[in-house]
Amino acid sequence: MYDVEEIRRDFPILDRRIDGKKLVYLDNAATSQKPRRVIQALTEYYEEHNANIHRGVHRLAEEATAAYEEARRKMARFLSAPDVRGLIFTRGTTEAINLVAHAWGRKFLREGDEIVLTEAEHHSNLVPWQLAARATGAKLRFIPILDDGTLDMEAAERLIGPRTRLVGCIHASNVLATINPVERLAELAHEAGALMLVDGAQSAPHLPVSVEALGCDFYACSGHKMLGPTGVGVLWGKPEVLEDMDPFLGGGEMIREVHLDHSTWNDLPYKFEAGTMNVAQAVGLGAAVDYLDELGMENVREHERRLGEYAYRRLSEIEGITLYGPSSDRTGLVSFSLPDVHPHDLSQLLDEEGVAIRSGHHCAQPLMRRLGVAATARASFYLYNTEEEVDALVGALQRAREFFGAFA
Ligand code: PMP
Repeated sequence: MYDVEEIRRDFPILDRRIDGKKLVYLDNAATSQKPRRVIQALTEYYEEHNANIHRGVHRLAEEATAAYEEARRKMARFLSAPDVRGLIFTRGTTEAINLVAHAWGRKFLREGDEIVLTEAEHHSNLVPWQLAARATGAKLRFIPILDDGTLDMEAAERLIGPRTRLVGCIHASNVLATINPVERLAELAHEAGALMLVDGAQSAPHLPVSVEALGCDFYACSGHKMLGPTGVGVLWGKPEVLEDMDPFLGGGEMIREVHLDHSTWNDLPYKFEAGTMNVAQAVGLGAAVDYLDELGMENVREHERRLGEYAYRRLSEIEGITLYGPSSDRTGLVSFSLPDVHPHDLSQLLDEEGVAIRSGHHCAQPLMRRLGVAATARASFYLYNTEEEVDALVGALQRAREFFGAFA
């Protein structure tokens, strides 16, 4: 039984009051809150097991290494990754994609090669490819989005071809709530002899994910958006692809042998984990994955799907509001704007009522241009949000509309 009130009791911060008002936290696409179990895993790690990993043979070093490697196995299982050697810890999605753009892109891209992305990418799956293209002479091409916020798949079929070396796409949009057909894009990429990279920052926290079923070569996600600590995320890659790549960062741990004039590389996944990693954070992410596994990702998805639908319907009742993205098959977030109200002013006014939403370009400036706006407001839900909180948002927006209406 999915009991949202019971779940809420696991998240201490949800009891906070903002200027005496109940906190309504609707900025989960930016970062999620953390259950007590994750916070305790960090404390326990530092109070009882802290040491550097993979190096010492003393008891604490062995315990810390075991805890870190256990977190890797949990995360691999969570993503249905067939081989734990493909599971690399990073600081998050951004670092994971930069890793691929450097270690694969700079080695394999040539002048005239093409990287196919979409118009709706987060900057973290765009700027690293701009840098790689500049360094190698490769070109970027973009799959357009249709007016309903879904991808133009006919254009995708035309764009992905013999020059394509990699297709990169957000699994779920942090602005439009669209769930993209990344399985189909992976097929198109592979038919063209290209690789497929999925930005899973907004899917791993919210949908059951199997990297095998998606058929991708790389999948990136961030721990902090899925109940885990900041500072840790994951790149999953097919081991045979990772084997062929150059290292990303050089230093301790990623080497097998070092000579003054050259070095050889460690086995996967350590080849891509240079220096002291965020060990405690990885252990915390393992605890987050345990929590999500116990709830069941199918149940999380169903809760958010229902809540997202409810929010979309309630928000659409507000006079003059514009809602962005498709009207169905959405994740649990809604971007919107009200006429004559800047989204920043709106979120400030909502903050005074304890309602935390995001406003801005959401690190997707090209998408904002495509939508013809400078910014939107965004309410993003997670597994602990309730219909009452959606009602609180709608009530606060109605009052804001009246407030700004008085000046219009
Ligand atoms: N991709 C998408 C779709 C995102 O929503 C985000 C976070 N807003 C990122 C990438 C970047 O994640 P991080 O900042 O954790 O690296």
